[in-house]
Amino acid sequence: MIADTFSPRSLAPAGEVRVRWLGTAGFAIEHAGAVVLIDPYLTRASLRRCVVGRLAPDVAAIARHAPRADAVIAGHTHFDHALDIPEIALRTGATVFGSRSAAALCRAAGVPAARVRDVERAPGGEPVVGEVGPFQLRFFPSAHARLLLGRVPFPGDISDCDQVPLRAERYRCGAVFAVEIRVADRRIVHLGSAELVEAGLDCREPDLLLLCVAGWTASSAFPERVARALSPRAVLFSHWDNFFLPLDRPAVALPAMQGERLAERLGRASRDVRLGVLPLLGEVWI
Ligand SMILES: [Zn+2]
Repeated sequence: MIADTFSPRSLAPAGEVRVRWLGTAGFAIEHAGAVVLIDPYLTRASLRRCVVGRLAPDVAAIARHAPRADAVIAGHTHFDHALDIPEIALRTGATVFGSRSAAALCRAAGVPAARVRDVERAPGGEPVVGEVGPFQLRFFPSAHARLLLGRVPFPGDISDCDQVPLRAERYRCGAVFAVEIRVADRRIVHLGSAELVEAGLDCREPDLLLLCVAGWTASSAFPERVARALSPRAVLFSHWDNFFLPLDRPAVALPAMQGERLAERLGRASRDVRLGVLPLLGEVWI
């Protein structure tokens, strides 16, 4: 989709933080034996499974690709971000950070309340912070791309679930967050949807920005706004892959991603930014 402009290990040859792409907006970030997962969606249900009934987490895929976690972050609660999170929390004992909708999903799945952190806050306040092992987390209110005929798909909150998993369309968006992760003197920012809220987004010049591609053309001047608000040193493009296909096959781009155009505009709007993509389950050290 986008030509690699850095090779997977070249960001910091002596890097201590491992960043692994799990497909969609999902990442595993690891340092000193501790693991934070963001939007891990390993199940990758087929399109048919998404329309015929309740989704079900693929426990074999979860066990294989996300066997350990100390924290799991839900950037928002569409199924391709949040379906697997309660199951992962139950299996690993990880603490979940996310919206009230994410908390509702976890509650319905039987994740102990003490291991679920609601990171929504009143407008205008300081960003919610969290700490897990060596990781320091900050959650900034963000937004979802209006990629479905000018609208956010499945808008609203999840409050009415008493049994999970749900049908795909019941994974409503919930509150959306940009997440900053600090570990080992590195800063990583994750945007799980191709939109942002500049006000209060106080996490400029991250070492690495994990940037959602899907829907970016629906967000006005998206690459220029990302460059201005965040000025990242390096960007990994995510959520451009067809997530109805399993994880053990090479990634296939979703239609109409226009990744080359996004890379070109982002490169033009930023100074000295490095841009890249990883193969599915590929990793980079920073
Ligand atoms: Zn979404």
